[in-house]
Amino acid sequence: MRPHELLTPTPSGLYCPPADVYIDPVRPVARALITHGHADHARAGHGAVLATRETLGIMAVRYGAVFTQQQQVAAWGERVRIGEVGFTFHPAGHVLGSAQIAVDAGGLRIVASGDYKRAADRTCATFEPVRCDVFITEATFGLPVFRHPDTAGEVAKLLDSLALFPERCHVIGAYALGKAQRLVALIRDAGYDRPIHVHGAMEKLMGFYEAHGVPLGDIRKVVAAERKTLAGEIVICPPSAVQDLWARQLPDPVTAFASGWMRIRARAR
Ligand SMILES: [Zn+2]
Repeated sequence: MRPHELLTPTPSGLYCPPADVYIDPVRPVARALITHGHADHARAGHGAVLATRETLGIMAVRYGAVFTQQQQVAAWGERVRIGEVGFTFHPAGHVLGSAQIAVDAGGLRIVASGDYKRAADRTCATFEPVRCDVFITEATFGLPVFRHPDTAGEVAKLLDSLALFPERCHVIGAYALGKAQRLVALIRDAGYDRPIHVHGAMEKLMGFYEAHGVPLGDIRKVVAAERKTLAGEIVICPPSAVQDLWARQLPDPVTAFASGWMRIRARAR
């Protein structure tokens, strides 16, 4: 079997003809294998979904319990056979539950990485290298222009800024799934144990991580009536909320973003 006979790109996504399944399809299909819960990989409306327990849980949090007609849990490292093809999920180190999917048939093995990272992150299982014939890689930050600063150094800047400007609220934009929890973990690991305040859009996912064995400390949802009391506090919100009225109503905000990495940069006053 040649690689493109096992996995091939189609308008609906990466397709495996001999098993009639898609990996991270972009439109509703009968059978989908999902690498992780981010919206550009995990969509609602497929007939059946095979994914890790955590990814299925995250999809239920985001889309409601009936995001698909049929769910099947993929256990780490356990080969699921569909027709003549085997599918095995391995940790991708990206967000809770994120997987690379190894697809094998007739002695050929292809690994579709999904999003992955090799840097340390205690909020999810560590990336696992998988021996294969073909590796299909995501490359979001693959260009040499991306040089990610040391995360501990960025968190130290945040905590220094808090000490320097105790009258200002420190607002950080971070994606609700993965980045926000990693950011909280990094802040906790730096010894900060005060409450961390979060936008309502990420409260459920914070609770989901906690329930799946990722302690995040004292997390509090920002309540409109209490915004004025958040001087000197850390607030995490979706990146889109940083520039809008939501963040401007916080006391004299210092803003920053945690994207592929995190960079703390105060906005000019
Ligand atoms: Zn992702």
